[in-house]
Amino acid sequence: MTTTAPTIAPAQATEEIQDAGHVDVLIVGAGVSGIGAAYHLRDQFPDRTFVILDAQDNRGGTWLTHRYPGVRSDSDLFTYGYRFKPWRGPSIAAGEEILAYLGEVIDEYGLDQYIRYQHQVTAASWSTEDRRWTVEVTRGDTGQRLRFTTGFLWMCQGYYNHAKPYRPEWDGMDRFQGLVVHPQAWPEDLDLAGKRVVVIGSGATAATLIPAIAEKAQHVTMLQRSPTYFFAPPVKHELAVQLEPLGLPDEWMHEIMRRQYVSQQQMLARMSFEAPDELHAFLIESMRPLLPEGFDIDRHFTPRYRPWQQRIAVVPDGDLFAALREGKASVVTDTIDTFTEHGIRVSSGAEIPADIVVTATGFNLSVFGDVAFTVDGDPVDFTQHLTWRGVMISGLPNMAYTFGYFRHSWTLRVDLVSDLVGRLLTTMHDKGATMVVPTLRPQDADMQLRPWSDPENFNSGYVMRSQDIMFKQGDREPWTHMLEHEQEREILPKADLDDGTLVYR
Ligand SMILES: Cc1cc2nc3c(=O)[nH]c(=O)nc-3n(C[C@H](O)[C@H](O)[C@H](O)COP(=O)(O)OP(=O)(O)OC[C@H]3O[C@@H](n4cnc5c(N)ncnc54)[C@H](O)[C@@H]3O)c2cc1C
Repeated sequence: MTTTAPTIAPAQATEEIQDAGHVDVLIVGAGVSGIGAAYHLRDQFPDRTFVILDAQDNRGGTWLTHRYPGVRSDSDLFTYGYRFKPWRGPSIAAGEEILAYLGEVIDEYGLDQYIRYQHQVTAASWSTEDRRWTVEVTRGDTGQRLRFTTGFLWMCQGYYNHAKPYRPEWDGMDRFQGLVVHPQAWPEDLDLAGKRVVVIGSGATAATLIPAIAEKAQHVTMLQRSPTYFFAPPVKHELAVQLEPLGLPDEWMHEIMRRQYVSQQQMLARMSFEAPDELHAFLIESMRPLLPEGFDIDRHFTPRYRPWQQRIAVVPDGDLFAALREGKASVVTDTIDTFTEHGIRVSSGAEIPADIVVTATGFNLSVFGDVAFTVDGDPVDFTQHLTWRGVMISGLPNMAYTFGYFRHSWTLRVDLVSDLVGRLLTTMHDKGATMVVPTLRPQDADMQLRPWSDPENFNSGYVMRSQDIMFKQGDREPWTHMLEHEQEREILPKADLDDGTLVYR
């Protein structure tokens, strides 16, 4: 039996469409990106009208969707938190704590009045004549269809489909007598007591879930095709431990720890390019003393790719390794041959018994929330468009998007992009422009187009699976994205908004 993700889209949409009014800015998504965008918009432009639409029934995006046991951040919360709102807890936080933090941001800055939950955006059409987007919405609770108009569309929809997790089909799944669960659709009442659980996957989700469920389950097996890099920092940074007795104001603590983590992340990222072998050795050797004696670290925990080509999975205080040492969990590195009635047979011929199989197999990437875009009546095929600094899309007027970092805390980029969008709105105002469109200059005509994500740089499964649906990047600024935070925090604040690549009308 397989559990399914909660339905986000309404079952039955009504035929009739109602006018829901006009706003200056319309934000799609009430996750970390959308809430951050709304804060900055309100802070910088208190007179502008805006609304935030989200398909789900509450705030938080990722942290609302992912409710599996142990769900937590991989990043430290000093950089995953916004620069304007101090984080007050240990570095690594549980999903619930992140939701609470986002709730505080909404309350403290009065953002609730702007958010419309259960509003699934289905289409966005730009009209040059009217200088506005028409945004079609279907309500999740009533099925009612609504039409908003807006002068500027800010897409903060995240990168994956919240309703449809990625779950490959394996041979024999239909005869499996146990339960198959995806972390994106975790059943609230799932009883793990005394169960044999197999978790398919080796990324951050598997690493988080396994120690959390190993307490209750009879045994948990991590079944992975290939190894991932792990890093086991303390939940509380030693610098935070040292600073605590000084009783510093929260704002200072936040800023000091932020700088500490930014520099640490930068060092890691730089090392991954400049000294990948040393970083590889460091990561492997730091795991060794935490693993059970005789553990085959080469087979199970020695990845074949360069560190940071995929996210390094954080296991705070080494809790995954503790579960392995205590014999509550084990690792099998092999490919799945078939599901059987009572478990999974792998290519070696061994059968792993299972009552519950968790498919921690990742996401289905979605392009701009699967919204159907048109510009002056022409459907937008994003594969034919280019990113402008990872913030706008060529040929799409008055539209910005917030997309965070893969290697650093997502939110570091939320603040940076919000500043840039603020400058853009100010520039439009100063120029008396009602329209801004990223447009290739004559000197960009021969530009070599590159995939959305260069596999040499970052090649996680969900990114690679979606190369053929994503927009492209060019070979020169400003048509690139996925730069390191170290570069972007210099480049984005100074980005020339009058370099000829943005056409104002
Ligand atoms: C389990 C897990 C742990 C993670 N941990 C970290 C971490 O530690 N550090 C880190 O940097 N990153 C982490 N990430 C990545 C994470 O997704 C980002 O950090 C961040 O939460 C993305 O925020 P967002 O607001 O951009 O998108 P999301 O969180 O995906 O939220 C987008 C919102 O937009 C809504 N939406 C989408 N399409 C539409 C539509 N068409 N109409 C209306 N609403 C729509 C969705 O319902 C959703 O609520 C993690 C991801 C997962 C899944």
